[in-house]
Order: sequence, then C-alpha cells, then structure tokens
Amino acid sequence: MSDCIFCRIVAGEIPAKKIYEDELVLAFHDINPIAPVHFLVIPKIHVASMAELGPEHEAVMGRVMSVAGKLAHEQGATDGFRTIINTGRVGRQEVYHLHVHVVGGPEVLPAML
Ligand code: IMP
Repeated sequence: MSDCIFCRIVAGEIPAKKIYEDELVLAFHDINPIAPVHFLVIPKIHVASMAELGPEHEAVMGRVMSVAGKLAHEQGATDGFRTIINTGRVGRQEVYHLHVHVVGGPEVLPAML
C-alpha cells in the first residue's frame, strides 16, 4: 500500500469528492477549501513535485493543465481563477504528489504578486 495520500485516492483506498477522471489525471475537491471553487488536479502517476518533472511527463502535465481550465469553468469559476503549484519546503508544499490547485469563485481574489 502506498504511503502517498493522493496515490491512495487514485487507487480508491481513500474517499475523495471526484470531479473528473481519465486515464492520465484525476480532479477532486480540496478537503479544506479556501474559496467557493477549490479543487486539485493531479497526474495519476506519482510525481513528488514540480521539481521532479522531466520530458517524460509532458503529455500528462499538458492534460493536467487543459483539464484544470475546462473544469474551472464547469465548477463555476466563469470569470477567471487562480492556479497554484506549491513546490518543496520554500513553496510550502504539504502533500508530495504534484497537484495543481484551482481556486476561484464570484469574488476577485486578493492580490498575490
Ligand atoms: P499543498 O501541498 O501545500 O499544495 O497543499 C495540499 C492540499 O491538499 C491542501 O490544500 C489540503 O487541504 C489538500 N488535501 C490534503 N489531503 C486531502 C484529501 O484527502 N482530499 C482532498 N484534499 C486534500
């Protein structure tokens, strides 16, 4: 059994509110949402973080990004959204299975940069 929580969600060993699934990616609601729309899109294959990405991941990461944008609209972020990928200690990554946060809703988000 994997000790990666997101691998366990992919395997169906831990429940998640799934939004979308195909052969490469899975999307599910964040368990601790910070906005009315807050879901995660992950590659099904285990990649610990963005720092581990290589050319072999280009297809799956292309799918992650295209699915993220499509689902954002479907989930109600019709006037824009923010995508966040936390990486490593400095990036405050908590779960070491690469994931894209999609955050949005009706209100304009606080400025980040
Ligand atoms: P990050 O690693 O800092 O980008 O954050 C990990 C994110 O995963 C947090 O927003 C958590 O709320 C979320 N999370 C952790 N465990 C679960 C889970 O079992 N289901 C859904 N989201 C989760």
